[in-house]
Amino acid sequence: MGFVARDLGIDLGTCNTQIYVKHKGIVINEPTITLVEAGNNRRAIAVGDDARIMIGRTAEGYIAARPMQEGVIVDFDLTEIMIESFIRKAIGVSYIVHPRLFVSYPSSISAIERRAVGEVARYAGGRKVYLVEKPFLSALGCGLPVFEPNGCMVVDIGGGTTDVAVVSLGGVVISHSIRVGGSKMDEAIAAYIRREFDIGIGERTAEEVKLDLGSALPLQGERRARIRGKNAVTTLPETAEINSTQIYQAIREPCQAIVRAIKWVLERTPPELASDVMHNGIYLTGGGSLLYGMDQMIASELGIRVLLAREPMDCAALGLGYIIENLDLLEHLGRTSFLKEA
Ligand code: ADP
Ligand code: MG
Repeated sequence: MGFVARDLGIDLGTCNTQIYVKHKGIVINEPTITLVEAGNNRRAIAVGDDARIMIGRTAEGYIAARPMQEGVIVDFDLTEIMIESFIRKAIGVSYIVHPRLFVSYPSSISAIERRAVGEVARYAGGRKVYLVEKPFLSALGCGLPVFEPNGCMVVDIGGGTTDVAVVSLGGVVISHSIRVGGSKMDEAIAAYIRREFDIGIGERTAEEVKLDLGSALPLQGERRARIRGKNAVTTLPETAEINSTQIYQAIREPCQAIVRAIKWVLERTPPELASDVMHNGIYLTGGGSLLYGMDQMIASELGIRVLLAREPMDCAALGLGYIIENLDLLEHLGRTSFLKEA
Protein backbone atom coordinates (compact mmCIF):
# COMPACT_ATOMS: atom_id res chain seq x y z
CA MET A 1 0.00 0.00 0.00
CA GLY A 2 2.88 2.30 0.75
CA PHE A 3 3.76 2.41 -2.95
CA VAL A 4 0.49 3.70 -4.20
CA ALA A 5 0.12 7.44 -4.53
CA ARG A 6 -2.93 8.63 -2.72
CA ASP A 7 -4.75 11.88 -2.62
CA LEU A 8 -4.56 13.43 0.82
CA GLY A 9 -6.43 16.34 2.31
CA ILE A 10 -4.78 18.31 5.08
CA ASP A 11 -6.69 20.71 7.27
CA LEU A 12 -3.99 22.63 9.03
CA GLY A 13 -5.57 24.32 12.01
CA THR A 14 -4.09 26.48 14.73
CA CYS A 15 -5.13 23.93 17.36
CA ASN A 16 -5.78 20.71 15.49
CA THR A 17 -4.61 19.17 12.23
CA GLN A 18 -6.61 16.56 10.36
CA ILE A 19 -5.68 14.41 7.40
CA TYR A 20 -8.21 12.82 5.07
CA VAL A 21 -7.04 9.88 2.98
CA LYS A 22 -8.92 8.93 -0.16
CA HIS A 23 -11.28 5.97 0.36
CA LYS A 24 -10.38 5.92 4.05
CA GLY A 25 -11.70 9.10 5.62
CA ILE A 26 -10.13 11.16 8.38
CA VAL A 27 -7.18 9.12 9.62
CA ILE A 28 -5.23 11.79 11.49
CA ASN A 29 -6.77 14.10 14.04
CA GLU A 30 -4.07 15.46 16.29
CA PRO A 31 -3.12 18.71 17.99
CA THR A 32 -0.91 21.08 16.03
CA ILE A 33 1.97 20.80 18.47
CA THR A 34 5.61 19.80 18.16
CA LEU A 35 7.98 18.97 20.96
CA VAL A 36 11.47 20.21 20.21
CA GLU A 37 14.89 20.30 21.77
CA ALA A 38 15.57 23.76 23.07
CA GLY A 39 18.54 25.68 21.70
CA ASN A 40 19.77 26.18 18.17
CA ASN A 41 19.38 22.58 17.12
CA ARG A 42 15.58 22.52 17.57
CA ARG A 43 15.19 18.90 16.51
CA ALA A 44 11.56 17.77 16.74
CA ILE A 45 11.22 14.96 19.27
CA ALA A 46 7.53 14.35 18.91
CA VAL A 47 4.51 15.80 17.13
CA GLY A 48 0.77 15.80 17.63
CA ASP A 49 -0.72 13.58 20.34
CA ASP A 50 2.73 12.33 21.34
CA ALA A 51 3.95 15.90 21.81
CA ARG A 52 0.94 16.88 23.88
CA ILE A 53 1.30 13.91 26.23
CA MET A 54 4.88 14.95 26.92
CA ILE A 55 4.10 18.57 27.76
CA GLY A 56 5.17 19.20 31.32
CA ARG A 57 6.51 15.67 31.63
CA THR A 58 9.87 16.00 29.91
CA ALA A 59 13.31 16.73 31.24
CA GLU A 60 14.62 20.23 30.95
CA GLY A 61 15.80 21.30 27.54
CA TYR A 62 12.62 20.51 25.64
CA ILE A 63 9.90 22.85 24.65
CA ALA A 64 6.46 22.24 23.26
CA ALA A 65 5.79 24.63 20.42
CA ARG A 66 2.74 25.47 18.39
CA PRO A 67 3.99 26.04 14.84
CA MET A 68 0.74 27.79 13.86
CA GLN A 69 -0.68 30.85 15.49
CA GLU A 70 -3.85 32.77 14.69
CA GLY A 71 -4.27 30.87 11.45
CA VAL A 72 -0.79 31.40 10.05
CA ILE A 73 2.42 29.41 10.08
CA VAL A 74 4.84 30.99 12.53
CA ASP A 75 7.43 28.23 12.35
CA PHE A 76 8.06 26.96 8.87
CA ASP A 77 10.47 24.11 9.75
CA LEU A 78 8.38 22.71 12.55
CA THR A 79 5.21 22.81 10.47
CA GLU A 80 6.97 20.89 7.72
CA ILE A 81 8.32 18.29 10.14
CA MET A 82 4.90 17.89 11.67
CA ILE A 83 3.06 17.50 8.35
CA GLU A 84 5.64 15.08 7.04
CA SER A 85 5.29 12.97 10.14
CA PHE A 86 1.48 13.03 9.94
CA ILE A 87 1.58 12.04 6.26
CA ARG A 88 3.88 9.14 7.04
CA LYS A 89 1.55 8.03 9.79
CA ALA A 90 -1.45 8.40 7.49
CA ILE A 91 -0.23 6.42 4.49
CA GLY A 92 2.57 4.20 5.71
CA VAL A 93 6.26 4.30 6.39
CA SER A 94 7.69 4.46 2.89
CA TYR A 95 5.75 6.20 0.26
CA ILE A 96 7.75 6.07 -2.93
CA VAL A 97 5.28 7.89 -5.07
CA HIS A 98 4.42 11.17 -3.47
CA PRO A 99 0.77 11.96 -2.90
CA ARG A 100 -1.24 14.83 -4.24
CA LEU A 101 -2.07 17.12 -1.37
CA PHE A 102 -5.15 19.27 -0.93
CA VAL A 103 -4.53 21.79 1.81
CA SER A 104 -6.87 24.25 3.49
CA TYR A 105 -5.97 27.89 4.04
CA PRO A 106 -7.87 30.64 5.86
CA SER A 107 -9.37 33.29 3.56
CA SER A 108 -7.75 36.07 5.51
CA ILE A 109 -4.08 35.20 5.09
CA SER A 110 -1.83 37.20 2.79
CA ALA A 111 -0.52 35.93 -0.53
CA ILE A 112 2.90 35.39 1.07
CA GLU A 113 1.45 33.44 3.96
CA ARG A 114 -0.53 31.36 1.49
CA ARG A 115 2.59 30.62 -0.52
CA ALA A 116 4.22 29.46 2.71
CA VAL A 117 1.41 26.93 3.22
CA GLY A 118 1.93 25.60 -0.30
CA GLU A 119 5.67 25.36 0.11
CA VAL A 120 5.50 23.59 3.44
CA ALA A 121 3.16 21.02 1.89
CA ARG A 122 5.50 20.48 -1.03
CA TYR A 123 8.59 20.13 1.17
CA ALA A 124 6.65 17.72 3.34
CA GLY A 125 6.30 15.40 0.36
CA GLY A 126 3.45 16.57 -1.85
CA ARG A 127 3.95 15.79 -5.53
CA LYS A 128 1.32 18.32 -6.41
CA VAL A 129 -0.24 20.72 -3.96
CA TYR A 130 -3.62 22.37 -4.25
CA LEU A 131 -4.91 24.99 -1.86
CA VAL A 132 -8.56 25.48 -0.99
CA GLU A 133 -10.15 28.24 1.08
CA LYS A 134 -11.26 26.97 4.46
CA PRO A 135 -14.78 28.47 4.60
CA PHE A 136 -15.56 26.81 1.29
CA LEU A 137 -14.40 23.50 2.74
CA SER A 138 -16.41 24.03 5.90
CA ALA A 139 -19.54 24.70 3.81
CA LEU A 140 -18.89 21.56 1.74
CA GLY A 141 -18.29 19.57 4.91
CA CYS A 142 -21.62 20.79 6.33
CA GLY A 143 -23.29 19.38 3.22
CA LEU A 144 -24.40 22.82 1.97
CA PRO A 145 -25.29 23.30 -1.71
CA VAL A 146 -22.14 25.31 -2.42
CA PHE A 147 -22.31 25.06 -6.21
CA GLU A 148 -25.80 26.48 -6.45
CA PRO A 149 -26.75 30.15 -6.78
CA ASN A 150 -27.84 30.22 -3.17
CA GLY A 151 -25.93 32.09 -0.47
CA CYS A 152 -24.83 30.04 2.53
CA MET A 153 -23.11 31.57 5.52
CA VAL A 154 -20.56 29.57 7.46
CA VAL A 155 -18.93 30.74 10.68
CA ASP A 156 -15.89 28.70 11.65
CA ILE A 157 -14.84 29.34 15.25
CA GLY A 158 -11.41 27.75 15.42
CA GLY A 159 -8.59 27.90 17.90
CA GLY A 160 -6.89 31.07 16.70
CA THR A 161 -9.38 32.70 14.36
CA THR A 162 -13.03 32.99 13.55
CA ASP A 163 -13.75 32.97 9.84
CA VAL A 164 -17.07 34.20 8.54
CA ALA A 165 -17.92 33.66 4.89
CA VAL A 166 -20.76 33.59 2.42
CA VAL A 167 -20.40 30.87 -0.18
CA SER A 168 -22.30 30.64 -3.46
CA LEU A 169 -21.78 29.25 -6.98
CA GLY A 170 -18.70 27.24 -6.10
CA GLY A 171 -16.72 29.95 -4.37
CA VAL A 172 -16.39 32.34 -1.45
CA VAL A 173 -18.28 35.56 -2.24
CA ILE A 174 -17.32 37.53 0.83
CA SER A 175 -15.36 36.66 3.93
CA HIS A 176 -13.95 38.19 7.05
CA SER A 177 -11.63 36.82 9.65
CA ILE A 178 -10.81 37.97 13.14
CA ARG A 179 -8.01 36.77 15.36
CA VAL A 180 -10.44 35.67 18.00
CA GLY A 181 -11.22 32.02 18.63
CA GLY A 182 -11.02 29.39 21.35
CA SER A 183 -7.53 30.46 22.46
CA LYS A 184 -8.64 34.07 23.02
CA MET A 185 -11.35 32.73 25.30
CA ASP A 186 -8.73 30.75 27.23
CA GLU A 187 -6.57 33.86 27.53
CA ALA A 188 -9.54 35.90 28.72
CA ILE A 189 -10.22 33.30 31.41
CA ALA A 190 -6.59 33.31 32.55
CA ALA A 191 -6.57 37.12 32.63
CA TYR A 192 -9.79 37.19 34.65
CA ILE A 193 -8.52 34.72 37.23
CA ARG A 194 -5.31 36.63 37.56
CA ARG A 195 -7.13 39.93 37.99
CA GLU A 196 -9.79 38.70 40.41
CA PHE A 197 -7.81 36.15 42.42
CA ASP A 198 -4.16 37.01 41.84
CA ILE A 199 -3.70 33.46 40.60
CA GLY A 200 -1.76 32.60 37.47
CA ILE A 201 -2.95 29.59 35.48
CA GLY A 202 -1.53 28.02 32.32
CA GLU A 203 -3.28 27.80 28.95
CA ARG A 204 -4.25 24.18 29.48
CA THR A 205 -5.94 24.88 32.80
CA ALA A 206 -7.71 27.87 31.27
CA GLU A 207 -9.01 25.68 28.44
CA GLU A 208 -10.19 23.04 30.92
CA VAL A 209 -12.08 25.71 32.85
CA LYS A 210 -13.69 26.85 29.60
CA LEU A 211 -14.75 23.32 28.65
CA ASP A 212 -16.04 22.70 32.15
CA LEU A 213 -17.84 25.95 33.02
CA GLY A 214 -17.80 28.15 29.93
CA SER A 215 -20.93 29.35 28.18
CA ALA A 216 -21.92 32.06 25.74
CA LEU A 217 -25.16 32.64 27.65
CA PRO A 218 -25.71 32.89 31.41
CA LEU A 219 -26.45 29.41 32.76
CA GLN A 220 -29.69 28.68 34.59
CA GLY A 221 -28.10 26.86 37.50
CA GLU A 222 -24.70 28.19 38.45
CA ARG A 223 -21.87 25.68 38.35
CA ARG A 224 -18.66 25.79 40.33
CA ALA A 225 -15.18 24.39 40.15
CA ARG A 226 -11.90 24.65 42.02
CA ILE A 227 -8.88 25.82 40.13
CA ARG A 228 -5.30 25.38 41.08
CA GLY A 229 -2.64 27.84 40.05
CA LYS A 230 0.21 29.89 41.36
CA ASN A 231 -0.18 33.00 43.43
CA ALA A 232 1.04 35.84 41.23
CA VAL A 233 2.86 37.52 44.10
CA THR A 234 4.22 34.70 46.25
CA THR A 235 4.45 32.20 43.33
CA LEU A 236 3.21 29.52 45.75
CA PRO A 237 0.50 27.06 44.70
CA GLU A 238 -2.98 28.25 45.54
CA THR A 239 -6.54 27.21 44.82
CA ALA A 240 -9.72 29.20 44.39
CA GLU A 241 -13.35 28.50 43.70
CA ILE A 242 -14.82 29.94 40.54
CA ASN A 243 -18.31 29.77 39.11
CA SER A 244 -19.88 29.69 35.69
CA THR A 245 -21.21 33.27 35.91
CA GLN A 246 -17.67 34.55 36.32
CA ILE A 247 -16.46 32.53 33.35
CA TYR A 248 -19.40 33.70 31.27
CA GLN A 249 -18.39 37.28 32.04
CA ALA A 250 -14.72 36.58 31.36
CA ILE A 251 -15.40 35.31 27.82
CA ARG A 252 -18.18 37.73 26.98
CA GLU A 253 -15.94 40.05 25.01
CA PRO A 254 -14.50 37.42 22.63
CA CYS A 255 -18.04 36.07 22.11
CA GLN A 256 -19.26 39.57 21.28
CA ALA A 257 -16.36 40.03 18.86
CA ILE A 258 -17.63 36.96 16.97
CA VAL A 259 -21.11 38.48 16.73
CA ARG A 260 -19.62 41.74 15.43
CA ALA A 261 -17.66 39.85 12.76
CA ILE A 262 -20.83 38.15 11.54
CA LYS A 263 -22.63 41.51 11.42
CA TRP A 264 -19.73 42.98 9.48
CA VAL A 265 -20.14 40.33 6.78
CA LEU A 266 -23.95 40.52 6.71
CA GLU A 267 -23.77 44.28 6.19
CA ARG A 268 -21.53 43.79 3.19
CA THR A 269 -23.31 40.83 1.63
CA PRO A 270 -25.17 41.66 -1.59
CA PRO A 271 -28.96 41.82 -1.02
CA GLU A 272 -29.95 38.62 -2.86
CA LEU A 273 -27.37 36.56 -1.01
CA ALA A 274 -28.20 38.22 2.31
CA SER A 275 -31.81 37.20 1.86
CA ASP A 276 -30.66 33.62 1.13
CA VAL A 277 -28.70 33.68 4.40
CA MET A 278 -31.74 34.98 6.31
CA HIS A 279 -33.73 32.12 4.83
CA ASN A 280 -31.15 29.33 5.15
CA GLY A 281 -29.73 30.32 8.52
CA ILE A 282 -26.12 30.54 9.64
CA TYR A 283 -24.02 27.38 9.98
CA LEU A 284 -21.50 27.13 12.81
CA THR A 285 -18.39 24.97 12.56
CA GLY A 286 -15.07 24.68 14.44
CA GLY A 287 -14.41 23.64 18.01
CA GLY A 288 -15.41 27.03 19.42
CA SER A 289 -18.96 26.53 18.16
CA LEU A 290 -19.29 23.79 20.80
CA LEU A 291 -19.15 26.39 23.56
CA TYR A 292 -22.42 26.00 25.44
CA GLY A 293 -25.07 28.39 24.13
CA MET A 294 -22.97 29.79 21.28
CA ASP A 295 -25.62 29.03 18.65
CA GLN A 296 -28.46 30.43 20.77
CA MET A 297 -26.50 33.55 21.67
CA ILE A 298 -25.73 34.37 18.02
CA ALA A 299 -29.32 33.62 16.98
CA SER A 300 -30.76 35.95 19.60
CA GLU A 301 -28.26 38.75 18.87
CA LEU A 302 -28.92 38.66 15.13
CA GLY A 303 -32.44 37.36 14.86
CA ILE A 304 -31.36 34.69 12.38
CA ARG A 305 -31.66 30.93 12.74
CA VAL A 306 -28.30 29.38 13.68
CA LEU A 307 -27.46 25.75 13.03
CA LEU A 308 -24.58 23.85 14.56
CA ALA A 309 -22.82 21.49 12.14
CA ARG A 310 -23.06 17.81 13.00
CA GLU A 311 -19.30 17.28 13.39
CA PRO A 312 -18.16 20.88 13.83
CA MET A 313 -14.48 20.10 14.30
CA ASP A 314 -14.32 17.85 11.21
CA CYS A 315 -16.08 20.02 8.63
CA ALA A 316 -13.05 21.36 6.78
CA ALA A 317 -11.45 17.89 6.57
CA LEU A 318 -14.75 16.38 5.40
CA GLY A 319 -14.93 19.12 2.76
CA LEU A 320 -11.46 18.11 1.56
CA GLY A 321 -12.71 14.54 1.53
CA TYR A 322 -15.65 15.49 -0.66
CA ILE A 323 -13.28 17.09 -3.16
CA ILE A 324 -10.87 14.16 -3.16
CA GLU A 325 -13.57 11.52 -3.58
CA ASN A 326 -15.37 13.47 -6.32
CA LEU A 327 -12.49 15.09 -8.14
CA ASP A 328 -13.10 13.40 -11.50
CA LEU A 329 -16.73 14.36 -11.47
CA LEU A 330 -15.99 17.93 -10.41
CA GLU A 331 -13.43 18.23 -13.20
CA HIS A 332 -15.90 16.81 -15.67
CA LEU A 333 -18.47 19.39 -14.60
CA GLY A 334 -15.92 22.20 -14.75
CA ARG A 335 -16.42 22.88 -11.06
CA THR A 336 -12.86 23.16 -9.86
CA SER A 337 -12.26 26.90 -9.88
CA PHE A 338 -11.95 26.79 -6.08
CA LEU A 339 -8.70 24.82 -6.41
CA LYS A 340 -5.55 26.94 -6.39
CA GLU A 341 -2.42 25.19 -7.59
CA ALA A 342 0.45 25.99 -5.21
P1 ADP B 1 -8.53 24.88 14.56
O1 ADP B 1 -9.21 24.33 13.34
O2 ADP B 1 -8.28 26.35 14.48
O3 ADP B 1 -7.31 24.13 14.92
P2 ADP B 1 -10.64 23.63 16.06
O4 ADP B 1 -11.81 23.75 15.16
O5 ADP B 1 -9.99 22.30 16.14
O6 ADP B 1 -9.57 24.75 15.76
O7 ADP B 1 -11.12 24.10 17.52
C1 ADP B 1 -10.23 24.17 18.58
C2 ADP B 1 -10.81 25.08 19.63
O8 ADP B 1 -12.12 24.65 20.00
C3 ADP B 1 -9.99 25.10 20.91
O9 ADP B 1 -9.80 26.43 21.32
C4 ADP B 1 -10.87 24.34 21.90
O10 ADP B 1 -10.69 24.80 23.23
C5 ADP B 1 -12.24 24.68 21.39
N1 ADP B 1 -13.25 23.70 21.82
C6 ADP B 1 -13.29 22.39 21.56
N2 ADP B 1 -14.35 21.81 22.14
C7 ADP B 1 -15.01 22.79 22.81
C8 ADP B 1 -16.19 22.84 23.63
N3 ADP B 1 -16.91 21.76 23.88
N4 ADP B 1 -16.54 24.05 24.16
C9 ADP B 1 -15.82 25.15 23.90
N5 ADP B 1 -14.72 25.17 23.14
C10 ADP B 1 -14.31 24.01 22.60
MG1 MG C 1 -10.22 23.00 12.31
